[in-house]
Amino acid sequence: MSAFVPHSSSSPSHAKPSGADVLVIGGGFHGLSSALHLARAGARVTVLEAEYCGRHASGVNAGGVRTLGRHVAEIPLSLASLELWHQLPDLVGDSGGFMPSGQLKVAETEAELEMLRARVADLNRRGFHHEALIDAATVRELLPAVAPHVTGGIWCERDGHALPFRAVTAFRRAAQRLGVTVLENTRAETVRRVGERWEVTTLRQHFTAEYVVNAAGAWASTFAREVGEAVPEEPVALLLTITQRVPAFCSPVVGAAGRPLSFKQFDNGTVLIGGGVRGSVDMHARCGEVNFAQLATNVRTAVSLFPHLRDVGINRTWAGIEGFMPDGIPVISPSRMMPKLVHAFGYCGHGFELAPIVGRIIAQLITSGSSTLPVEPFAIDRFGAMAEGGEARVA
Ligand SMILES: Cc1cc2nc3c(=O)[nH]c(=O)nc-3n(C[C@H](O)[C@H](O)[C@H](O)COP(=O)(O)OP(=O)(O)OC[C@H]3O[C@@H](n4cnc5c(N)ncnc54)[C@H](O)[C@@H]3O)c2cc1C
Repeated sequence: MSAFVPHSSSSPSHAKPSGADVLVIGGGFHGLSSALHLARAGARVTVLEAEYCGRHASGVNAGGVRTLGRHVAEIPLSLASLELWHQLPDLVGDSGGFMPSGQLKVAETEAELEMLRARVADLNRRGFHHEALIDAATVRELLPAVAPHVTGGIWCERDGHALPFRAVTAFRRAAQRLGVTVLENTRAETVRRVGERWEVTTLRQHFTAEYVVNAAGAWASTFAREVGEAVPEEPVALLLTITQRVPAFCSPVVGAAGRPLSFKQFDNGTVLIGGGVRGSVDMHARCGEVNFAQLATNVRTAVSLFPHLRDVGINRTWAGIEGFMPDGIPVISPSRMMPKLVHAFGYCGHGFELAPIVGRIIAQLITSGSSTLPVEPFAIDRFGAMAEGGEARVA
């Protein structure tokens, strides 16, 4: 990689050379996927992770691998990422627990079905054919236990689900096999440009590198603000619930057109219920709290679609922290203010599926200055005046 130069003796004397071309801040799925793809391109990469890899959204999410229902801007990335999910053993030596079970979004009224019909027609006009409109009878073939009021749905048969921590670990290990250094319990405190290089400080050490990737998840806007690019990223705690085991009744991942729901049954019989209901966040303690009223609403939705779950107990619930942007799509963008800085954060609750391809995009942005997939909609400077007043969050 001719773009990269070895650590330069012009670095400040107190700075320990990291030996890296690229410092990645954040050992979530996006930071690790970026590290992996950069290492495949020949870069020397160090990942700084404040806690442990996969501790936050990437390791505790619902594992949905979904192209279904994406914002139009995300569809090209999402489809390309799905191809990587289907080839994950070739990429990282492990499937990440990916099961191509299909994903189904059900309509519960005629009006919702009409909305889904319009969506599919719009996608087809744009040249996308991965979402198929299906009638009520076909929904029931896929989901015999579903409530009788369901009127139809959208089916994405190549979608599925994976095991978040296993997938993240597979990417970490694959990156490490290629020489990536992963430093856990190593929180980046400050990021600044010193001469021709970036300097990142942690409590114990200073690192320098030619490039920085800001993949700090819900904490990423702190670093964006530090380099003069304040963005309105909001940290949100998303809730998930796992039930007791029940006999197998549901193979695909199920969502609902008119209310928050993401629903799947694991091989061991337990059912995971989520889909965007929110708890509360404590950014200083770096944890989310469960909100029982929200949780109850979520569980009621699941029971109204699968009434036989009415008497099933709950095993556990948790809240994971994710960064949300006001327009519902992430920031995947070279810095507009500083050279050799790339941002990748704010996935609004649906970045797990995207991580395999976003890593490749980040590597392309760094090695060639452009991406083969369209990333303009994800530019960091798209928030304009909103960003001026945008609160950058505390790490
Ligand atoms: C409950 C829940 C369910 C979800 N379900 C799905 C789903 O089904 N499908 C889907 O596609 N997406 C889902 N998502 C979204 C998905 O998990 C995220 O979009 C994705 O994991 C974001 O990855 P990330 O690497 O950007 O962030 P993270 O995984 O949050 O990683 C960021 C990392 O940066 C570290 N960090 C922060 N500050 C610093 C610092 N100062 N120095 C060093 N490191 C730092 C953090 O410790 C963290 O490990 C869900 C999210 C949640 C919370």
